[in-house]
Amino acid sequence: MALLTLRSLVLNQLLFLVAKRFVSGQTIQEAVAAVRRLNANGIGATLDVLGENVSDRRAADAAVAAYLEALGWIQQESLSSNVSLKLTQMGLDIDRVYCLENVGRICERAASGNNFVRIDMEGSAYTERTLNLFHELFQKHRNVGVVVQAYLHRSEQDVRKLIELGARVRLCKGAYKEPPSLAVQTMAAVRQNFINLASLLLSQGNHTAVATHDDVLISWTKNYITQHQIPKERFEFQMLYGVRSETQRLLAAQGYSMRVYVPYGSHWLPYFYRRLRERKENVAFVLKHLFRK
Ligand SMILES: Cc1cc2nc3c(=O)[nH]c(=O)nc-3n(C[C@H](O)[C@H](O)[C@H](O)COP(=O)(O)OP(=O)(O)OC[C@H]3O[C@@H](n4cnc5c(N)ncnc54)[C@H](O)[C@@H]3O)c2cc1C
Repeated sequence: MALLTLRSLVLNQLLFLVAKRFVSGQTIQEAVAAVRRLNANGIGATLDVLGENVSDRRAADAAVAAYLEALGWIQQESLSSNVSLKLTQMGLDIDRVYCLENVGRICERAASGNNFVRIDMEGSAYTERTLNLFHELFQKHRNVGVVVQAYLHRSEQDVRKLIELGARVRLCKGAYKEPPSLAVQTMAAVRQNFINLASLLLSQGNHTAVATHDDVLISWTKNYITQHQIPKERFEFQMLYGVRSETQRLLAAQGYSMRVYVPYGSHWLPYFYRRLRERKENVAFVLKHLFRK
């Protein structure tokens, strides 16, 4: 039994060495160091305390405390960073009102430092609840934004409502496995939806985050804003920590606002798994590195 535990501990540590490509570290200090490196290249950040689907209040309370701590660091160190969080990490599966209060506390703390909170979008079981809770929060806190996933059939309707509300939206393709009844399945269809939604958001929406590493969509965005004379201040590109860092620096150097999602903490496995699923090459990368160690 002890041998088994030791073996899984060692495997966990080895896997974390590989996950470090996508995760800035396990501590706030490591995350702050990553943000400083990005800021030095003219790139903003959004700090994410890893965690999701918590089922007890102690874990949700700890996540809230970690976000308050992160906001404290951002303010004290004058970092160019906001925060991103998941509602299931804030207790959505436990109690809706409790979750609302938790996120409200983080929004209040962020507002006191003139900062912003982004609510990530999770799997389709949470889409409706996330948007409803977001709407309720937005009545009270204007420094909160949400995410729309281009692969979902429902997203155009959601985007239109969010535009009407004046909400700040991050648009991404979507990272969860969804059935054809809910989401388009081919890359071409996801890209087309992304373009349709980005056109709406960029021309009619509040500040938009175009979150992609896809060269086709990056070029499309650049052309669209030029053609429609949309000021660069109206949107930003966003990418993930450890993915296409060179392109991140290039876009920043070209004068685009660039923000990188910087995850940290001990609950890194589900996030790491989603990054692996996105690209076959990443699985090969993991196997190669595990084998080498
Ligand atoms: C800032 C940010 C926030 C996000 N927030 C959410 C969210 O709240 N909810 C949600 O469902 N999804 C979220 N995502 C994930 C997103 O939905 C996609 O799953 C992810 O970005 C991959 O899609 P892509 O547009 O980058 O294009 P892809 O077609 O997947 O990638 C284009 C190219 O980018 C590079 N690339 C992309 N992903 C990887 C990777 N994992 N490893 C190495 N190279 C890679 C490759 O060169 C690839 O060819 C977020 C993404 C970003 C950038």
